[in-house]
Amino acid sequence: MKRTEIRSLLERTDYGTAVNVKGWVRTKRSSKNVAFIALNDGSTIKNVQIVVEMNEENDKLLERIHTGAALSIDGVLTESMGSGQSVEVQSKSIEILGEANPDEYPLQPKKHSLEFLREKAHLRFRTNTFSAIARIRHAMIFAVHNFFNDRNFYNIHTPIITGSDAEGAGEMFQVTTMNLENLPKKEDGSIDFEKDFFGKAANLTVSGQLEGELAALAMSNIYTFGPTFRAENSNTSRHLAEFWMIEPEMAFYDLNDNMDLAEDLLKYVIQYALDHCREDLEFLSKRQQDEEKTKKEDERSMELIKKLNFVLAEPFVRLTYTEAIDVLMNSKLNKKKKFQYIIEGWGADLQSEHERYLVEKHFKRPVILTDYPASIKAFYMKQNEDGKTVRAMDILFPQIGEIVGGSQREESYNKLLIKIKELDIPMESMWWYLETRKFGSVPHSGFGLGFERLILFLTGMSNIRDVIPFPRTPLNLEF
Ligand code: ATP
Ligand code: MN
Repeated sequence: MKRTEIRSLLERTDYGTAVNVKGWVRTKRSSKNVAFIALNDGSTIKNVQIVVEMNEENDKLLERIHTGAALSIDGVLTESMGSGQSVEVQSKSIEILGEANPDEYPLQPKKHSLEFLREKAHLRFRTNTFSAIARIRHAMIFAVHNFFNDRNFYNIHTPIITGSDAEGAGEMFQVTTMNLENLPKKEDGSIDFEKDFFGKAANLTVSGQLEGELAALAMSNIYTFGPTFRAENSNTSRHLAEFWMIEPEMAFYDLNDNMDLAEDLLKYVIQYALDHCREDLEFLSKRQQDEEKTKKEDERSMELIKKLNFVLAEPFVRLTYTEAIDVLMNSKLNKKKKFQYIIEGWGADLQSEHERYLVEKHFKRPVILTDYPASIKAFYMKQNEDGKTVRAMDILFPQIGEIVGGSQREESYNKLLIKIKELDIPMESMWWYLETRKFGSVPHSGFGLGFERLILFLTGMSNIRDVIPFPRTPLNLEF
């Protein structure tokens, strides 16, 4: 018999029909005459209840069926009276596809801590929390591509291995095929990268932006959506060594166009999640509320779905970095030195605690900060007339802090060249980037949206290690 996925099975009302379901046992409970098995196949957060009559043959089988076992069940679709579902399956025959020894299987039908589940990342897809997150991730990938496709943006694959070490966004991982125990050296003792695979030093990319700009300066509107790598030794709940980034680049866009696009994108994908991931969001909302029961009422976060609607409801606040510094300097937290990093004045790099203060306490809305000091931003950002600031914009979200970082790009060849020399950036390997400013240069803009930060926000999870199936962080490469 052809298998029906549980997601579609639960929508059926043709009671009396013979069906086959396959999946993994979540729970089993027996009473005198019947046993109930909750079966899940990942197609939905919901389980289907399998009703098994107790008889000699089934009793033997049931003894071998435990949480985690894989089953194939032929049965009859039946209207359900009590399972919280409108349908259940009356089992006719059970095949055990794979047993799970209860003495060894780590996932029991009880609440496990997220830390414990990180150590069982090979099995955590089998929990409601992680399957819900995986389904939401999938929906968001789709939503992102829809958003850009609908607006005539072209998706460009930018390289993962790069020959430049000046992308300017973070520490890089080196890529080599050389034998680390016996590195070829030049006469002066330095490593001879000419002997390496590419004939030069290579790294994993920290951003697809620079190549994205090349494409935008021919195709107008493009976006990349790929993995990026940062060897920052930062053990925070918001940083991964390997994460996915959405990076649109648009010719003829100024900073305002850029901010409008980023705000539209965020609102579009949030709405998409509300429209397509309702059950998973409701589950995660309940999970978060349970988790926060121990917190004081005023420290609990806003209910998840309410929070998502809240972000959709109003335009994001837009203000300059300079204005934000004023707000922060005048804040009680800064005056009473309650921030971990006290803001001493203009020029300070904002930490997550400051970003969250602006969003959660002061404006109570997502905030877009613009026109940051040039000294704390990347070399390629368009310089303002004031000689101090650049046309940068960061979008700050509740609980997350920075979710988007972008800018109008410097289109002037001379200004860019002076800047590169000033900062002593090794540009020999990036002559091609500079050339775009020599030939048909135009104003253009772009930004990077961290995909996992977006998923953090959408799921209400608090650690970025829990919103990517196999997180890469310092000292963590098990799965
Ligand atoms: P942060 O200041 O939070 O470390 P950043 O300014 O270094 O971030 P950008 O280079 O602006 O980050 O990257 C664009 C976006 O990519 C960020 O806004 C964020 O959403 C995401 N991002 C950056 N670094 C990481 C990371 N290590 N792990 C996950 N997401 C990241
Ligand atoms: Mn940034």
